[in-house]
Amino acid sequence: MKQLNDQSNNQFFSILDNAISQCPNYDSKMNYLLESRKIYLFNQVLQQQIQFIKDQNSLLDKQFIQPQKKQRRKATEISKIYKCTQCEKLYGSEASLNLHSKLKHPTIESESKTQIEQSFQI
Ligand SMILES: [Zn+2]
Repeated sequence: MKQLNDQSNNQFFSILDNAISQCPNYDSKMNYLLESRKIYLFNQVLQQQIQFIKDQNSLLDKQFIQPQKKQRRKATEISKIYKCTQCEKLYGSEASLNLHSKLKHPTIESESKTQIEQSFQI
């Protein structure tokens, strides 16, 4: 662990030495305060962009790990145009109306079936 720290310290100092050696000489016409302010603001913008990308990444990760379930329509969003003839309940699809009829009015349905069958027999 200590070796690693020494290594990263050495790396840091070599980067620092390199940066200092590339520094231009002091220029009295240069507004260093303004320049440092510009760099500070530029860094802040960069940090915001990094955070934005991190947030997007974590969102993508979540979607990749747990794909969103297919969103169901709310009951109020479904236009109910299928009306039960027996109790006037409304349904959004023929299938759900048929299911309702089978569950709630089984006898009536079978009666009407036999009526139809009888009418065919006559
Ligand atoms: Zn009904």
